[in-house]
Amino acid sequence: MSDPIEALPPLREVIAQHDLAARKALGQNFLLDLNLTRKIARAAMPWAADTVIEIGPGPGGLTRALLLEGAPRVIAVERDERCIAALQPLMAAAGGRLIVHPGDALETEFATLAPPPWQVVANLPYNIATPLILNWVAHAEQFSRITVLVQKEVAERLAAKPGGKTYGRLSVAAQWRCSVRMLFDIGPKAFVPPPKVTSTLVELQPRVRPLAEADLHKLERVTAAAFNQRRKMLRAALKPLWADADARLQSAGIDPTRRAETLSIEEFCALARLL
Ligand code: SAM
Repeated sequence: MSDPIEALPPLREVIAQHDLAARKALGQNFLLDLNLTRKIARAAMPWAADTVIEIGPGPGGLTRALLLEGAPRVIAVERDERCIAALQPLMAAAGGRLIVHPGDALETEFATLAPPPWQVVANLPYNIATPLILNWVAHAEQFSRITVLVQKEVAERLAAKPGGKTYGRLSVAAQWRCSVRMLFDIGPKAFVPPPKVTSTLVELQPRVRPLAEADLHKLERVTAAAFNQRRKMLRAALKPLWADADARLQSAGIDPTRRAETLSIEEFCALARLL
């Protein structure tokens, strides 16, 4: 027997019925092709936790796919009231497996939605993707997996290895706590309306323990100072942290003439431990 979700009207009809003209301020670029959203859902599997949290379900394309691919329970956080109304038939068809939580994802404590660990799957509103991800990776131990569609440029920064221009604070923060993989790209034409840039599905798999010992805030202070002046040698870039930056770097076994983008995450952690 077919799933009642498959009997729902096509997403284009849902959008027309609820007058869901995309709002740029809310980063609304909708995915309407169920084959594609099911591909995203399958890439997020296996379902590692009882609860999948989706940020920004919009008209529900990815939400339908998550449910059809067997996610045990989906809690979808959405701030656009028009979308919340449009999701009601999907909630009814999901038979209790979908909860829509009205609110701002930036201000929603996931612990008020469900106990950890949380699995996140989302086509993120691009304007808030970076702060959301930074907040999640800072508490990576509470997540079973994070699989999100972001601008390709953000995915590249998340996954960057030392030595290139894309390697920076975001790379260190993410990879210190998670292993990061770029899964596949999705071109602008797949979205309504099409964004200007290519998107990439990225997976952040929390590590059992951080890559090296460090205090998060100290690590952030070191990477902020180092990458704020990324073209300078570290002995100059780290002066705001230590008047004797040269000696500190040498005590950590790091050549003071190196630049931030050449340092491994373990080396940044060694510097954070000196703070
Ligand atoms: N998941 C849908 C899809 O794939 O078609 C929509 C994705 S669209 C890129 C981003 C969604 O996030 C929109 O539905 C938008 O209303 C919602 N959104 C934007 N800012 C938000 C916020 N601060 N908190 C929760 N949802 C937000």
